Amino acid sequence: MTGLSRRGALAGLAALPFGRRAALAAGPSRQRLDHLVASYPDHLKAVADDTLLWRDGARMAIGAGQPERPFEVMLRSATIADQLRQTYERGPPQGPPPRDHSPGRLRNTAFFAKMYGDCARGDVTGRMRPVAWMPASGRQTLQVTDINDVATRLERIIAELEQLPDRLKAFLVPSAGTYNCRAVADSGLPSMHGSGAAIDINVAKSDYWAWARRRGEIAYRNRIPFEIVGIFEAAGFIWGGKWYHFDTMHFEYRPELLV
Ligand SMILES: [Zn+2]
Repeated sequence: MTGLSRRGALAGLAALPFGRRAALAAGPSRQRLDHLVASYPDHLKAVADDTLLWRDGARMAIGAGQPERPFEVMLRSATIADQLRQTYERGPPQGPPPRDHSPGRLRNTAFFAKMYGDCARGDVTGRMRPVAWMPASGRQTLQVTDINDVATRLERIIAELEQLPDRLKAFLVPSAGTYNCRAVADSGLPSMHGSGAAIDINVAKSDYWAWARRRGEIAYRNRIPFEIVGIFEAAGFIWGGKWYHFDTMHFEYRPELLV
């Protein structure tokens, strides 16, 4: 949680009787849960108490009553409530992210496996289709999931990126890839690349937290201009450059976080 959102949450809680504070402090607001449902209309139907109702009749516990756990613990076992816990701020970054503020890195594995399939079982690739990446600037074909219209959304992003000047396109070409059924190094869990709903841009002009780690502290570094980030954010993609564990080449489709 950022300093800003923590202050906002405390201001709202001050008016509540003490007994209700703990339960409400632990879970996402009704507004954020409604936004989650609205973000994935093909899959999600509603929220009832602490349960997420899927259109196919499936039900998933949200985990709203569970208190906040250390980030490294949540990273490996995020509930749906944890997934919404950190606020992703749209727009130009206001300095390096605070410690452990990595909105989007907390993902409930069951939630995304149900939506996009489990790549380890081979049921993701059948829903992917080829997308021409920056066709005016080079020839590269990427495999992107069709679920939630992610492939089409990325094509709209590409049409806008093609309008950028060449000095900005240099950050985009070549792409370091989309689909990759591989676990995240520090959590052992699937990334959004395993869902075919993430893209890495030019690795040669990017920065990554694991390359910068020294003495337990991560020195934030970014070279990606915000003109690029803003185009992705407007289309429902978040940027790994806003993570404490920064990954500035990385974008993934996470509309539930773009409030
Ligand atoms: Zn990536």
